Amino acid sequence: MGSVGQTATGHRRRVLFFSLPYQGHINPMFQLAGLLHARGFAVTVFHTHFNAPDASQHPAYDFVPVQFDGTPADSADTVRVTVEHVLAVNRACEAPFRERLAALLEEEEEEVACLVADAHLLTLMDVARGLGVPTLALRTGSAACFRWFMAFPMLCDKGYLSSHVAESQEPDMLVTELPPYRVRDMPSASGATLGLMRDLISRAVTAVNASSGLIINTFDALETDELASLRRGLAVPVFDIGPLHVHSPAASSSLLRQDRGCLDWLDARGPASVLYVSFGSLASMSAADLVETAWGIANSGRPFLWVLRPGLVRGAPPSQPPPLPDGFHAETRGRGTVVSWAPQEEVLAHPAVGAFWTHCGWNSTLEGVCAGVPMLCRPCFGDQMGNARYVDHVWRTGLALHGELERGKVEAAISTMMGAGGPGTALRGRARELCRRAAECMAKAGSSDLNVDKLVNHIMSLTA
Ligand code: UDP
Repeated sequence: MGSVGQTATGHRRRVLFFSLPYQGHINPMFQLAGLLHARGFAVTVFHTHFNAPDASQHPAYDFVPVQFDGTPADSADTVRVTVEHVLAVNRACEAPFRERLAALLEEEEEEVACLVADAHLLTLMDVARGLGVPTLALRTGSAACFRWFMAFPMLCDKGYLSSHVAESQEPDMLVTELPPYRVRDMPSASGATLGLMRDLISRAVTAVNASSGLIINTFDALETDELASLRRGLAVPVFDIGPLHVHSPAASSSLLRQDRGCLDWLDARGPASVLYVSFGSLASMSAADLVETAWGIANSGRPFLWVLRPGLVRGAPPSQPPPLPDGFHAETRGRGTVVSWAPQEEVLAHPAVGAFWTHCGWNSTLEGVCAGVPMLCRPCFGDQMGNARYVDHVWRTGLALHGELERGKVEAAISTMMGAGGPGTALRGRARELCRRAAECMAKAGSSDLNVDKLVNHIMSLTA
């Protein structure tokens, strides 16, 4: 390793990063930064004031703040709020980013190799190219999801995505133009929100096509056909180098304080006995769903570790952990523990964890795959439904919970996943096999390992 990212005169080449300011985007970006830093590149992280990373956790990197501290609006319409926020980040950061980048180039132009930016930051990639800096697009979702992005105009035109059409169709109807998705696996929206989504997604496809390459957090054995389809449809090279958290674990990029005490709690549990429950950093649920979730977990009789993030329940005060139903603690005393935020990668790697109830954010899905545990999927919005489809139907390493959340369904699904014999044994066997294939891709001369070498060479060629 060591000196690959250096010029002939021995200077370290510098890679600039700009992530979207959300946990699920910040983590893979820091993991990629760690990987390239280990290959000899210097790292500069541009970031918004909103959700700023903790620079003290990364003393080897330079940090450049860009003025933007707008928080997403408080609304139950997560899709609309998130899309509007992403577009606002692009707009508001354009001028200050240009100023900051120009100042940096005056000092270090020789060294700068490229900007790696989230594929949702088209405006900022345009700014960088305007100043002569090559760009690479980072996609933090699956290859299947980006294939879906590329098909988005067709899906819109065929009416699959407008909510009144989606609602009138059978949710289980297969989208014949884009298998394995069904109507229910794709987000639907009405008029203005669908227009905003279309704008956001077409900007991401433009950003990738205008860049010098796509870096994507997935691996060949997981998404062979989907990656082949991206390579056919894109004019730029595609570097599937995931799962990034295995290359370069990054607990240090957590925006919330991780409660490490739960690892001690896990130490005292038997192998594969614990259900780990977490719905990520953005997903939300109704108060009624929380009650069904709680009693489903309690009635399963299994030990559990549950991440109950402040803000998880819509309508509850965002600064406090949501209240659990009366009697829940008494019923589960000694059997479970609840934390606000966990060191998730370490939790999933712990031998006591036997199953993962997840919202199917792509990072969580990959972390679950690499832990070799079966997953109970309760997707909430965006790409999560599509990810759940892959877990449940393509890899068959978990079960999806659709429709009304109901404690009996939850209890039955947990028993299937964790119980001895029957379908649970098959789920667990396939989950272990997928984990083994992930490890093969990451090992020396595996697909992801080779693609990291190709990426490093590509970066060195960009300004050579
Ligand atoms: N995460 C964590 N602690 C928790 C829950 C989640 O560190 O208690 C991390 C998790 O490991 C993952 C990220 O937060 O890397 C969530 O990203 P994901 O794409 O799964 O979901 P999002 O939060 O974007 O919906």
